[in-house]
Amino acid sequence: MRPYDDFMLGSLLNSPPMRRGAVFVLLISLPFLTSCAIIPVFKPTPKPTETVAKPTSASVTAKRAQVLMGTMVELTAVAPNEILAQAALTAGFQEIRRLENLLSTWIETSELSKVNQAAGQEPVGVSEETFTLLKRAIEVADYTEGGFNIAIGPAVRLWNIPEAPRIPSDMELKIAAQYVDYRNIHLDPTRRTVFLEKPGMRIDVGGIGKGFAAEKAAAVMREVGATGGLVAVAGDFRVFGKRADGTAWPVGIQHPRKNGKILATLDSTDEAVSTSGDYERFFLQDGVRYHHILDPETLRPARLCQSATVVAPDAGWADALATGLFVMGPVKGMALIERLGFGAVIVDAQGEILVSSRLRSRVQMVP
Ligand code: AMP
Ligand code: MG
Repeated sequence: MRPYDDFMLGSLLNSPPMRRGAVFVLLISLPFLTSCAIIPVFKPTPKPTETVAKPTSASVTAKRAQVLMGTMVELTAVAPNEILAQAALTAGFQEIRRLENLLSTWIETSELSKVNQAAGQEPVGVSEETFTLLKRAIEVADYTEGGFNIAIGPAVRLWNIPEAPRIPSDMELKIAAQYVDYRNIHLDPTRRTVFLEKPGMRIDVGGIGKGFAAEKAAAVMREVGATGGLVAVAGDFRVFGKRADGTAWPVGIQHPRKNGKILATLDSTDEAVSTSGDYERFFLQDGVRYHHILDPETLRPARLCQSATVVAPDAGWADALATGLFVMGPVKGMALIERLGFGAVIVDAQGEILVSSRLRSRVQMVP
């Protein structure tokens, strides 16, 4: 693994079909991904065989990127030495790959695929992790008044953005509406089984899985010996500890209408920052933007926000809440975040920026 030797602003925004990063950390550098748009912000004298460690610190920093969960995953580890830093990265990637095999509905043998295949037939036994994820998803569905809804699968399939985008007919959406009630997902904690009540139901964890995986990867990296780190799974970020020079991780929030530009930044330690945006996957037809976050009430793209960023202690929560907030809109969404004591930055449909009370002193707007 080639160590990193320069500070750059990594942007994967121009790399379809991968999901475009909604939030990116200013330090991410991907020098080997030459096909991606990378905007340099600061480039010290390159030292090819050394890692990015400040002379004042005994720590080293290692970074690597891989495509996992259908998107670019970027890991950064700070550790007392190079071996530990690299081991933390390897373990982090392994953890995300393991969770992908468990949770991806693109993989036919995954636990969740088996749950979907048995819809309307029988309960399916799942691992503790899958059960925890589903329980969390139902909790967030309740908090967001159904805005976040993992039973949305049949509608996501109909829209199929961005693979084969087309506008489904009213009739198709009416039929799909019979299969998207998350209260028809039955979790049995005693047997640890999941049962989808109706044939045709389909769980989709696209709105929570990446954050869930980021949280677990960060924990594993810490276990292996990283004192600080950053896990970036597309727009879902988890940071822990500090950078090698003892400072916090600067996180940038993507501007929803200016490709590759940052809307705001905040310094982070030990928390998650997730963004959902209508610019991530979309197509335009007759001047209308059709994107991938669906309002479970209409089964059409949610229309109240351009983007919703949530800052929370746990990346699974942050990811799911960001999707849910996007659907709920700025008024209800911000009220929920204040009630939960988390942070949010919401860009509403008109482009107005709202910042929750806890974040006001931390977020710096970029002119
Ligand atoms: P995110 O980018 O985290 O907001 O997740 C968006 C993904 O979650 C979509 O690509 C769908 O797979 C899925 N999804 C779409 N609408 C919803 C919704 N209302 N609730 C939960 N998941 C959704
Ligand atoms: Mg999400």
